Amino acid sequence: MTRTDPVVAQRQVGLAQGLEQRTAAQAALASGVISAEHAAVIVAADRQLPTGVTASQREVVEQSLVEKAQELSPAMLRRAARRALEAVEPDVSVVDAHENELVVNEEDRARSKTRLTLHENGDGTVTGHFTVPSAQGMLLKKIIDTITAPRRGRLGAAQAQVGERECRTDWDRARGEALVELIEHLPVDHLHPRSAATVVITLSEDVLRGALRAAGLDTGEMLSAGEVRRLACTAHLIPVVLNGKGNPVDLGRSARLFSEAQRVALGLVHQTCAADGCDRPYAWCELHHLHEWALGGRTDLANAVPLCHFHHQRIHDHRYQHTRTRSGSILFTRRT
Ligand SMILES: [Zn+2]
Ligand SMILES: [Zn+2]
Repeated sequence: MTRTDPVVAQRQVGLAQGLEQRTAAQAALASGVISAEHAAVIVAADRQLPTGVTASQREVVEQSLVEKAQELSPAMLRRAARRALEAVEPDVSVVDAHENELVVNEEDRARSKTRLTLHENGDGTVTGHFTVPSAQGMLLKKIIDTITAPRRGRLGAAQAQVGERECRTDWDRARGEALVELIEHLPVDHLHPRSAATVVITLSEDVLRGALRAAGLDTGEMLSAGEVRRLACTAHLIPVVLNGKGNPVDLGRSARLFSEAQRVALGLVHQTCAADGCDRPYAWCELHHLHEWALGGRTDLANAVPLCHFHHQRIHDHRYQHTRTRSGSILFTRRT
């Protein structure tokens, strides 16, 4: 029998049009035993049965799904329905192969729906919209949850990261900030050409050394002096420093970034962000030059301090000043 078998076609048309010849799913739907969502799952499962399945076998399969529908949510039923064939197929390997084929088809459909659109709002923000396969979507959700989780942690962490008048109960905002942090941590080393994934910033020497003046990026955006100096601590931004005459300046210190070996070594000393009370794990911290690199600070371990994204922003924010306690943690106070 084939999918276009007249009996099957009639049954499917009947379900769609509510005609009198009822299948098990139609009857269950009509009597309120299952929901329309459940019925849709059963119809889809019926369509996906192998072409060799006979009409009477289809009825057995459908009846078994109607029974399952009374105990499972539509999503759970959809999962169970991939193995619906087992109601009439004694060979487990055939059921397994059919289930695998259905999953492959679902993956293909999900891939074909995958999209990312980015829109510049013209107000200093970009709005994005994306569709990705469920597996990657849930992976992203887990990653974002992990980044936001420490903010739900100890009271100390919450206090350490909450600004004076900032409210952290807005979870959309918290997830947004987690995405910003994630973007800055994306590895770009394997991209070719790597420079395409790196933002080049052109700034004057005095800005790098502490002057408060916004700087321009090669993408046409502007960044505040604090953000420029913070990003200069990470790999995603290459500062092209110009002197007063507009010529590139050679700052004469080859290593601007801490090496992987230094990062590992510092991890033996720090378990978390160095800000007082912050419990953001070390693995998520950015290595900051305590004595700024642009001001002659060396890229060696004694000058490295791990800071989470939030506190790395804060240490480069001229509205705050910081001191180091005897134990080595960083205390911030707002300048008045
Ligand atoms: Zn820094
Ligand atoms: Zn921190």
